[in-house]
Amino acid sequence: MAYVVVDLEWNQCPYGKAKENPDLPFEIVEIGAIKLNEEREITGHFSEAIRPQVYRRFHHRTQEILHMDMEALRDARTFPQVIEDFFSWCGEDAQFCTWGPLDLVELQRNMRFYQMNNPLPHPLFYYDIQKLFSLLYEDGKSRRSLKDAVDFLGISSEAPFHRAFEDTYYTAEIMKQMDWDRVREYRSVDYFWLPETKKEEIHILFQTYAKFVSRTFPNREAALRDKEVLSTCCYICGARMKRLVPWFGVGSKHYYSVSRCPEHGLIKGKIRVKKSVDDRTFIVKTLKKIDEEDMKQIRAKYEAARKKKKYESH
Ligand SMILES: [Zn+2]
Repeated sequence: MAYVVVDLEWNQCPYGKAKENPDLPFEIVEIGAIKLNEEREITGHFSEAIRPQVYRRFHHRTQEILHMDMEALRDARTFPQVIEDFFSWCGEDAQFCTWGPLDLVELQRNMRFYQMNNPLPHPLFYYDIQKLFSLLYEDGKSRRSLKDAVDFLGISSEAPFHRAFEDTYYTAEIMKQMDWDRVREYRSVDYFWLPETKKEEIHILFQTYAKFVSRTFPNREAALRDKEVLSTCCYICGARMKRLVPWFGVGSKHYYSVSRCPEHGLIKGKIRVKKSVDDRTFIVKTLKKIDEEDMKQIRAKYEAARKKKKYESH
């Protein structure tokens, strides 16, 4: 097994959203990758610019961030050529690592645009190093920029940020400093490919919580009627639990509940309503053990949401 830290730079339509190609909102113009062995020692790298086929000018934001020259990309190879070589370089047992959840989604969306064969498994598990950084050094919820993380860990940062190869180098250096045993189980699931049937739905059990990724639904209402989405069986023993706080919404994307397992105590349910790249709806549900104090806070949120609803319906 090898860890492959990958980072992509992309451009978007320079003439605004109305003129963009809906199948390729973000066109990849550079890929950088670093390979690490299981001891997280660097064993190789891959870095190449990519000649754009759709957007021939840089969006002003891209230009500001990237400091790349469109002229210089004219001699680069095209996306399918580069990516095919990239996957052979990766080998078969690559474990992908990225800073944040976006790169693998955009990689696959570009591959689909060029009708390339997608060799990635599904579900595709990967390490979101930005999330692991938050789990180890912060509250697990905050998300830092790569530069902030590099500064925090005292890694020397003479190379520029927002160039694919340099960013993978920094991400690899951050990985090296991590207490890997504490985070290695917290792999993320890539949301480019999503389950289409009930059978394909994803259930993952971590030490401290459980995660469920649903199949896609035409809309939010259909998703929130689904039995599996709403079910709150104990993720440790599978027992049916007594619901103490019913599912309630905070905004239109987050729902919470609290139940009690006779053996494992209070368990919080959280539902996040998400959109797929094809604009369908899917659900990510987590179940997690909580204490009485957490339960009081959620109950207070529930009472507030109920009052608000009552007030609005009058
Ligand atoms: Zn239980």
